[in-house]
Amino acid sequence: MPLESKFSEVAENRLYSLAYNKSIREHKLMASRCKKCGYLSIPPKPVCPKCHGSEIDVVEMKGGGKIAAYTVVAVGAPLMVEEGYGREKHYCCGVVELEEGVKVCARILGVDVSKPEQIKVGTPVKMDFVETFHAADPTHEEGERTFLAFTVLEKP
Ligand SMILES: [Zn+2]
Repeated sequence: MPLESKFSEVAENRLYSLAYNKSIREHKLMASRCKKCGYLSIPPKPVCPKCHGSEIDVVEMKGGGKIAAYTVVAVGAPLMVEEGYGREKHYCCGVVELEEGVKVCARILGVDVSKPEQIKVGTPVKMDFVETFHAADPTHEEGERTFLAFTVLEKP
């Protein structure tokens, strides 16, 4: 691949990720859908990861899904530590399979993190958002940030 098209691909990916972050701030979850094969990607991608087609629609997800995998974290990522999570305050994150069939990683809310064995794969969840304040880092200014999350609809 020539260097210029590699640069334009990186630039296009960057535009897609900026647009994705903006949609999360507006409490919308967007996916790209390949016009050729129908493959869905979150975050949206300018090129289909399955068939490499570049004719893409960006579509909004309804927000329903189920837990496909999860973990309860005691030694958190720096952003989570900044929010007060850690050895004394665990959190759950996981993979949610949306009703549209695409999977996405996010925080899982409404579960008892002190009893991880009671969290069940297949539990229905609905899209939610977490608004928190964070200090500046190399990619963000200090301020409110919005994160994708899912809340459990029914206790197992
Ligand atoms: Zn495709």
